[in-house]
Amino acid sequence: MIKPLKQGAVIGILGGGQLGRMLSVAASRMGFKTHIFEPEANPPASHVSDLLTTAAYNDNEALEKFAKSVDVITFEFENIPTEALDTVEAFCSVLPARNSLKISQDRLTEKEFLTNLDLIVAPYANIETEKDLEKSIESVGFPSILKTRRFGYDGKGQFKINNISELKSSWSKLQNLPCVLETLVNFTKEISVIGARNQDGEVVCFDPGENLHRDGILHTTTLPANISSSQNIDAVLLTGKILNSLNYVGVMGVELFVTEKGLLINEIAPRVHNSGHWTQNGCVIDQFEQHIRAIAGWPLGDGKRHSNILMTNLIGSEVLDVDKLSKDSNIGIHLYGKNDVKDGRKMGHINKITD
Ligand code: AMP
Repeated sequence: MIKPLKQGAVIGILGGGQLGRMLSVAASRMGFKTHIFEPEANPPASHVSDLLTTAAYNDNEALEKFAKSVDVITFEFENIPTEALDTVEAFCSVLPARNSLKISQDRLTEKEFLTNLDLIVAPYANIETEKDLEKSIESVGFPSILKTRRFGYDGKGQFKINNISELKSSWSKLQNLPCVLETLVNFTKEISVIGARNQDGEVVCFDPGENLHRDGILHTTTLPANISSSQNIDAVLLTGKILNSLNYVGVMGVELFVTEKGLLINEIAPRVHNSGHWTQNGCVIDQFEQHIRAIAGWPLGDGKRHSNILMTNLIGSEVLDVDKLSKDSNIGIHLYGKNDVKDGRKMGHINKITD
């Protein structure tokens, strides 16, 4: 058990992207300092943090120095190399704990974990060999979706599959890496729940948001989601079940498919989540403060939503519309301080109050 952190304590964040940046702002509002560890120069989080280490995840000396300089360590993305975590954990607690990262780093482990909790995921099969390809057709069939087990995000490393020749060619495009084949779910909508748990076992979930993707990237999150009250309760309860089963400390995003037969879990992310950005303007305590509260050993906020919200990501050149957007006094603007505007790059987001 960590003692509640006091003003001036230092929170270490592995990863310096926009999520690290917004965690850093929340931590600083609460009187903490932040130390970012990031291999790339000039990361978005460094503009709003106290300390920055620019070093690779295999630089053990830098990792050790970083770990010794902070009171608790958290992370903004799930693909931190295991060895880097081993190194820092020898000197400082890492929250959320390693078990949740291990599960979510591999789609197969994640699906097995969820199935063992009696939660429902799309029918799936593991693919590691040619033989597995044939077997997967029997258990999953077509249409389906082939995904790399590790390092996929925003729809990258995924192919829709309609027949065996597509399956073979797509697997070879994925360099015959370990994959899962899963049934293409005929969902009516996608939703997500952002949940939090602290070390005393308090669990708080924000309202489910309804997500629309464009080119595999989250485009909008709408609150409230247009789902029934029983689906709403289901989504929140299953999130609580996942958090409790992991003895989780921090914020987690749970992505779900809504189907005519009920809810299916797509994936879990053991970190603050893009589909939770609406909380910055829709709640008194947003997902970033909630995460910092949890890992700092503080009580959680109640997560209540005070407004209806439409969150829209600003991708690539959409960020150039900011002048126009800033004239709407019902829009909260959140920019990530990235200089290079690139296609598909998340540059910022806006939260519009739609009451
Ligand atoms: P993921 O990287 O697994 O979050 O997938 C990115 C997006 O692809 C999801 O948000 C869905 O829109 C779509 N997708 C992923 N898996 C499936 C599936 N089994 N069936 C239908 N659509 C899917």
